[in-house]
Amino acid sequence: MRPFVYARADSAQTALLANSTAQPRTVASVHAASQYIAGGTTVTDLMKLDVMRPERLTDINSLERTPSGQIEFGARGLWLGALVRMAQAADHREVRRNYPVIAQSLDLAASPQIRNMASLGGNVLQRTRCTYFRDTSYGSCNKREPGSGCAAMDGFNRSHAVLGTSDHCIASYPGDFGQALIALDAQVEIAGEHGTRTIPFAGLHRPPADSPHIETNLKPGELILAFMIPPLPFARRSLFLKIRDRQSYEFALASAAVALDLQNGSVREVRIALGGVSALPWRARGAEAYLKGKAPDEATLNRAAEAAFADANAREHNAFKIPLGKLTLVRALRQAATMEL
Ligand code: FAD
Ligand code: SF4
Repeated sequence: MRPFVYARADSAQTALLANSTAQPRTVASVHAASQYIAGGTTVTDLMKLDVMRPERLTDINSLERTPSGQIEFGARGLWLGALVRMAQAADHREVRRNYPVIAQSLDLAASPQIRNMASLGGNVLQRTRCTYFRDTSYGSCNKREPGSGCAAMDGFNRSHAVLGTSDHCIASYPGDFGQALIALDAQVEIAGEHGTRTIPFAGLHRPPADSPHIETNLKPGELILAFMIPPLPFARRSLFLKIRDRQSYEFALASAAVALDLQNGSVREVRIALGGVSALPWRARGAEAYLKGKAPDEATLNRAAEAAFADANAREHNAFKIPLGKLTLVRALRQAATMEL
């Protein structure tokens, strides 16, 4: 048992203060000495495995009583507070009706018990399921121990990414909700010691490059307050398709979050994000560009999928993810095109 300090914050200001006084001025990473705890389904898991070793946990669950615990839907789109639970957002009537891709990405994740505990803010910051990262008996993991190497490169890499990887890390991003946010051009509101800032959600995660232990562009101690999804009428024609080894309670091998705007049988606008196959929530802009202005017939969908995986890079055991990812995308687009609204 490693000792740590536990403190409860009842506002964003006290949370920031608690975190900043404890925080050495390093980058926000798996090694940060001070961590927030919301549902705890990632952070306590990794503490028990001795992967995360925070000296201080700041409990932010009281922020449920602030706007960060609320869902609002109106002319400016959808506001999802970071302390909203996954199940709460998935069950929300307006979310289900206007942004089905969000509700489905949450419904298809984890188990009912986890979805009742886990927050949206914690969800987007969950860590990879790479076995070599989660098992400290392996010495080589650049994400856990910077500079130690990557055991997955020549190890068992069936679950690893084929898009957005680097020579230092090929771990896949495990979450589902992030793909829906990427596809819908969401923004994220962040509080820090110098005030509040809003950035595109697409700018939250960093590709592994040569520092896979730094997974986001959050500054030390920063707190996610909310996600804002713009009004997007065609998001009613959106869905999340998740392919996995078993029907439920499993991470994605490949997933696709798509939203489609059809006019007179042709694609006027389309949004595509891929999961399970990539190092971070992945926007497939090449496929989007290819589809625009075309009728979504089988040949066109297949070519769009080719464009989505044009830069894919496989290792020994994960090459199957390239054809699987293409089939997943084609099926998701086909289903979206034929949705009854
Ligand atoms: P916590 O564990 O409390 O926090 C996670 C991290 O985020 C910590 O580093 C914490 O410091 C930080 N953090 C939390 N909130 C904030 C905030 N507001 N601002 C800044 N930092 C913050 N997810 C899927 O998407 N799909 C799945 O299929 C899936 N399956 C799962 C199966 C199992 C068995 C388990 C254990 C988890 C699974 N998950 C899955 C992951 C789960 O959804 C996440 O663990 C959960 O969403 C994390 O939310 P939390 O509130 O529990 O985060
Ligand atoms: Fe670590 Fe990334 Fe390699 Fe997995 S893929 S062992 S997380 S460096």
